[in-house]
Formats: sequence, structure tokens, C-alpha cells
Amino acid sequence: MHVAVLGAGYAGLSTARRLESRLPPEVDLTVVNDGPDHVLVHEVHRAVRRPAVADAITIPLSDVLDRATVVDARVESVDAEAGRADLDAGETLSWEYGALCLGSETAYYGIDGLSERATPLKSLSDAAAIRERFLALCDAGGGQVVVGGAGLSGVQVAGELTALAEERGLAVPDDIEVVLVEQLEEVAPNFPANFRRAVREELTDRGVDVRTGTTVERVTDGGVETDAGPLAYDQLVWTGGITGDDATGGDRPTVRADLRLTDRTFALGDAARAVDADGEPVPASASAAIRMGKTAAENVGRLVDHELNGSADEFDPRLERYRFDVPGWLVSVGDGAVAQIGPTVLRGTAARASKTTVGAGYLTSVGAVHNAVNLAEEELL
Ligand SMILES: Cc1cc2nc3c(=O)[nH]c(=O)nc-3n(C[C@H](O)[C@H](O)[C@H](O)COP(=O)(O)OP(=O)(O)OC[C@H]3O[C@@H](n4cnc5c(N)ncnc54)[C@H](O)[C@@H]3O)c2cc1C
Repeated sequence: MHVAVLGAGYAGLSTARRLESRLPPEVDLTVVNDGPDHVLVHEVHRAVRRPAVADAITIPLSDVLDRATVVDARVESVDAEAGRADLDAGETLSWEYGALCLGSETAYYGIDGLSERATPLKSLSDAAAIRERFLALCDAGGGQVVVGGAGLSGVQVAGELTALAEERGLAVPDDIEVVLVEQLEEVAPNFPANFRRAVREELTDRGVDVRTGTTVERVTDGGVETDAGPLAYDQLVWTGGITGDDATGGDRPTVRADLRLTDRTFALGDAARAVDADGEPVPASASAAIRMGKTAAENVGRLVDHELNGSADEFDPRLERYRFDVPGWLVSVGDGAVAQIGPTVLRGTAARASKTTVGAGYLTSVGAVHNAVNLAEEELL
């Protein structure tokens, strides 16, 4: 029997590591990822200001997976019903049970001129491109950067840019203006109200010009047209939303709390729109993706056991249901941070230390202790 995990981000790695111990020894496990490493996407904005963070947040999959066969290939298309994927190497991969964990792509919503002119932030190479362009702007004496979208990535990259400008000896906002534009009325719109308020304060304290309730309608060379009037820009970063991977035709299929997409295939992390055991939509986040991996692995394990025990003709076994329950939320805003732990919201040193501890704790939990030490050094020293 063969089990496959497509994608080795938070959802995929979490699923695969659990399956390594959960599956009976006779079952083959394959992990396909379009690169040899697991990258902590939720920290890539850090590399805009501190390129050395890239090493700390990149972990070779061979270091953290033991039993699984890792295939470094791009998934071109997926047939979740049949349990089959076409890979860019020309191979076809089939599975009895599988997990679709391909993450997401940046959504441009068909806004005229946007994708051609904006840099997204989903990868370390995006972070490097944003840095290069921003440093050129700093060297030229300053200018205006517009960041579109005030979710977790937009908030955090805006914070990094103001801090980087100050490190280069420029004044914010006099020399460098960072404008954060958000269509909804709040920054971090999907999060609790006290967290949203604290994030907004942290941004404005650091000189970010926050413009909520402002919709980007069109982008031209040097100009963003919004429903609140035009905005000039020298650099444009777009973090305004996500869509599904090309391999699923841009689709993020909806799954219920057992995360089962078809008889054979589960979908989790950013790759799916999951509705949890309480009927609540699960926010696209690293914290949810990691925890969904536990549910998906357990459910694949139950189906495999059921089939290997010769019960395949009977009803399916009862599957675990995912309930979205994270201890809190953490964002960095330059050298500041906001942490929500239960009902409490923290800012300042305590929040920053929490953010680093959680990042390093995650790395330790996947067995990347050396990376954890490096991350702590980069962030705190
Ligand atoms: C700048 C930034 C800051 C963020 N900050 C936070 C935060 O503070 N807290 C938080 O909880 N979340 C945060 N997020 C969101 C979080 O990173 C995502 O929700 C999370 O990465 C989703 O995990 P995933 O496993 O579904 O996808 P990913 O982590 O994106 O993993 C997908 C994996 O699949 C691989 N892959 C993709 N397509 C293919 C293909 N076709 N073939 C083969 N392999 C493929 C990728 O290489 C990757 O390894 C942030 C995101 C960004 C961009």
C-alpha cells in the first residue's frame, strides 16, 4: 500500500512526520515537494531585513524525515478522486491514501496592472527581491513604498521595511514612507479585536501610514488607483490574498472537519478552505496547518488500518475531526511585536521574546535544533 503527501510545508511536514510513526511498516510513504527543503514561510518577511535568517528557516527535508521517500519534483496536476498526480519530471504518482498540502499562491484578483508591477511575498526569493529594490530606494535617498493587504504578511513586511530604512540612516516617514493599504476596515482583519487594535498601534508607532477601508482598483507605472484616490509608489509589494496552487487549477477546495476531500485524499493547510468541528472557517495560518497535520495523519492511519485489517467492505472507520484551537497569535512589526495569549495582548519585549520562542520551539519540535539556535541568535542578539 502507498501513502503520499504532496507538499512539505507546515501541513505536509506535520502530516508526514506523524505518518512515519503511525503507519504500519509495510506501507510505503512518499513526500513530494518542489525543492529539497522545508521553509518556515511565516518568517520569510524577516529575510527582507536580515538575509541571514534564510539559513535558520530552511531545513533540509532529509534532516527531518526518516522513513518517507522524498521526491524533489513539482506537482503539475492532481486527481484527488483517482489518487494520482502528474509530476514535472514526467512521472505519475499514485496513492491509496494521500494528503494535499501544496499551500497557496498570491491572489491578484485580476486587478489591472497589479501582477506585472508588484512583488509578492511568499518565498525567500520574493524577500530577496523586495530587499534589493528597497535598498536601491534607500540609496537613492528615499521614496514611497505601498504594501497592499494588511493580513499577517502585509503587517509584518511593512514593519520590516520601516526598521530597515532606519537601519540605513533614513527617517520614517520623512525620507521613506511605507503605506499599508487594506480593503477592509481593520488591519489583521480575521483576528480578535484587541489583537487588531494592538497591531494597528504598533504599526503607527513605527511610522507606517495605515489606510484601511481602501480598495486597490488599478495599478499603473508609479501609481496605484484606489477608491479613496490615487497613491504614488516607488515600490509596490502585494500581500492582498491567497489562491490555490496551479496544480489544483487555483482552487482551494472546501473540506469539512475530518479534512477528507475524496475517499482517498485529504486536503489541509492553505491548500483547502477547512471548516472545523464547530462549523467555523479555519484561518489560513501556519499554526492551523501544523495542527491539521495531526488530524490528517490520524485519519489516514485509521483508513489504512481498516483496509489492512480486511474491513474495507464495511463502513469507514470513525474519523477524527479538527477543531481550530490555537493558544494565541503573534506578529512581529519591525523590532516590535504583538502577542495574543488567551485573552491577553502583549507588546514590547515580552511579545518579541514569545515570537522568537514559538519559532525556535517549532524548529525544535521538528528536530531542527541547530536551526532553532540560529533563529534565536538572529532574532534576539
Ligand atoms: C510573510 C508571511 C508571514 C506570515 N506570518 C504568519 C504568522 O505570523 N503566523 C501564522 O500562523 N501564519 C503566518 N503566515 C501564513 C503561513 O505561512 C501559511 O498559512 C502557511 O505557510 C500554510 O502552510 P502550508 O503547509 O499549507 O503551506 P506552505 O507552508 O506554503 O507549504 C506548501 C509546500 O508545498 C510546496 N509546493 C507548493 N506547490 C507545489 C507543487 N506544485 N509541487 C510540489 N510542491 C509544491 C511548497 O514548496 C511548500 O513546501 C505568514 C505567511 C507569509 C507569507
